[in-house]
Amino acid sequence: MATTIATYTTADLLLDWDRTRPRSLQTAFGMSELGDCRRRAGYRLAGTAATNTGGSLQAVMGTAIHEAAAAVLKDQQAAGVIPADDLIEHEVSFAGILGHLDRYETATASLVDIKTTSDRWLRKLKVQGPPTSHLWQTHGYGAALIAQGRTVKRIVIDYLARDTGEQWRWTGRFDPQHVRDALEWVTEVRATPLDELPRDHQPDSAWCEHCPFRDLCWEGAVTDRDPRSVLFVEDPDAASWATKLEDARARKKAAETDEKEAKGALDAIRPNTAGAELVAIPGFDKVLKYTVSFPERIDTAQVRKDYAAAGRPVPTKKPLKGEVKLELVDAGDEVFVPGGEG
Ligand code: SF4
Repeated sequence: MATTIATYTTADLLLDWDRTRPRSLQTAFGMSELGDCRRRAGYRLAGTAATNTGGSLQAVMGTAIHEAAAAVLKDQQAAGVIPADDLIEHEVSFAGILGHLDRYETATASLVDIKTTSDRWLRKLKVQGPPTSHLWQTHGYGAALIAQGRTVKRIVIDYLARDTGEQWRWTGRFDPQHVRDALEWVTEVRATPLDELPRDHQPDSAWCEHCPFRDLCWEGAVTDRDPRSVLFVEDPDAASWATKLEDARARKKAAETDEKEAKGALDAIRPNTAGAELVAIPGFDKVLKYTVSFPERIDTAQVRKDYAAAGRPVPTKKPLKGEVKLELVDAGDEVFVPGGEG
């Protein structure tokens, strides 16, 4: 059947393009997977065939941005603006792990990596710095270059928010400890049987949604139940799961109380009554950012009154799936015992 714009959309076109890119076709464990999900790394290291090859439009946008940056740099290099011994989109390998670095500038011994992200994630990065996986990936490239006889002094990560166009640059000195930590992590993953490797992301996260092993990873879950029910299938100790739930809720409650107390105490030194202000505190390695805003919220009580006055029901939406609430209550008489009689 001939493809038409009705059956083959722009998204289909872009995803098809992305599936043919060398990075998408790479099946071996790569540096971009260092420090991320241990189970995914395990599948890669075991040479497991991917079960999900759909890709994502976010990844396509990231790939296109990398290609555009590389094309400009290559043009500049051809024109002599960038030295011939600088590296652009260069494949490297270290300890048998393959990677593709974005740029290496010989004159400053700097390795530059481009990362596309969302504005929400960028705000988190600005506060917390790059995650371990990004540090290990870039240091892996650095280690590969050092093994080739080059000098690497500086790691630069340019984060670009796809939705706002904002750029944030992180710069750090090359730290060999990151390389040692990354290799230790790989050794541990290799030494652990595949089905004992932890699933480091939740099935409804963007990581799992676009993971090439998603179906394989969560298969075995109870039919029509949460994908995480596979964890129970693998370890059917209901009392231990219930204890874990009870502990988690207690910790969450304690953390919420601590957070409220600390936030309230630090309100003593807030300098602003509107807008944003940064406050440095001696002896603490981060700064406090106070933002005071006056967001407008829907007055639901008034909305209900208005609809009632108009004699109309407030519009509501029913979820497609039932929402499950799980409480821990004192045992009574009529209790369902899984696997029990009656
Ligand atoms: S589906 Fe999620 S938890 Fe499973 S291997 Fe992939 S990223 Fe890890």
